[in-house]
Amino acid sequence: MFSEDMDFESRLVTPEFTGTEDDSLELSLRPRALKDYLGQEKAKENLKVYMDAAKGRGESLDHVLLYGPPGLGKTTLAGIIAAEMGVDIRVTSGPAIEKQGDLAALLTNLNEGDVLFIDEIHRLSRQVEEILYPAMEDNAIDIIIGKGPSARSIRLELPHFTLVGATTRMGLLSAPMRDRFGVILRLELYSPEELAQIVTRSAQILGIEIDPEGAEEIACRSRGTPRIANRLLKRARDFAEVVGNGTITKADADLALSRMEIDPLGLDNIDRMLLTAMVRNYNGGPVGLDTIAAAIGEDATTIEDVYEPYLMQIGFLSRTPRGRMVTPAGYRHLGLPIPGNGNQADDDQLTL
Ligand code: ADP
Repeated sequence: MFSEDMDFESRLVTPEFTGTEDDSLELSLRPRALKDYLGQEKAKENLKVYMDAAKGRGESLDHVLLYGPPGLGKTTLAGIIAAEMGVDIRVTSGPAIEKQGDLAALLTNLNEGDVLFIDEIHRLSRQVEEILYPAMEDNAIDIIIGKGPSARSIRLELPHFTLVGATTRMGLLSAPMRDRFGVILRLELYSPEELAQIVTRSAQILGIEIDPEGAEEIACRSRGTPRIANRLLKRARDFAEVVGNGTITKADADLALSRMEIDPLGLDNIDRMLLTAMVRNYNGGPVGLDTIAAAIGEDATTIEDVYEPYLMQIGFLSRTPRGRMVTPAGYRHLGLPIPGNGNQADDDQLTL
């Protein structure tokens, strides 16, 4: 049965929603109230103040931009905002809105106060963005009716609404777009303690028995990302059921994760390949993102969105103006000699 999981394994630490049966369970695991949304204390505290103030004034919440790596809970938080404000939510994404008319249709179908959630908002086209600006600022859109000389523009009033935009790439968002958000919240990678709470909560919902050490083990190896933690929980359950006694212990979690080649810090093959390629081919850097991407055959965007944030958080990779560098801690984790430490034998080994 483990071999059946093999092709899934390579994607196991993908923080993106993969649409597999496993991920569809995600919906049931999504907290619906702010009190069940664990971690992200700073973002939550601020958001609560803004929501309470808007509710007190009887207004809709100002537009909110959520940014951070995939799988950290941006979509979940958008749903919570709608629930806490007592309004409906419409969910879409930048690439899904191809034409101005698509967005106009979405906007004109909103009810007063509704939340419109646009995931990957940095991928909206310029033309679509142009419709969004007056909608965000003046609650109106200008649409052109007819063609040629008889074409005329009419202004349609919209209900008040809250746009919640999510992006993994703040740098790719156009400045006029960014400036139109009144609230900008950055989501951080979660601590192992927070992830352990999330794993315990998910286990409860899914009816999985897990002991605290088992939850901790999964938490430490989930790259700071709830989506990955939930996925690893399900795989560890398989091992606990087949190899163990049904309750996930530290040993079951460790066995499951080792079989999936996820190391004690949550690094997978690609992380290790990335660091090793930088050390072996480029003396640990500095080396440019595109060069690394070509060396390991991965997409540069994926490296930037998915792999780098965690490697930087655990201090294995640093970004300098001249490129990325492997840190001494990164060398140590790979069991490779650190250059420039005066150890001739180590240096010889490095140049092999
Ligand atoms: P994103 O939109 O940032 O990619 P999602 O909102 O889809 O991430 O979250 C992925 C999954 O992680 C959710 O289904 C949910 O189960 C879990 N999750 C995310 N954030 C939290 C949190 N703060 N507390 C509990 N579970 C969370």
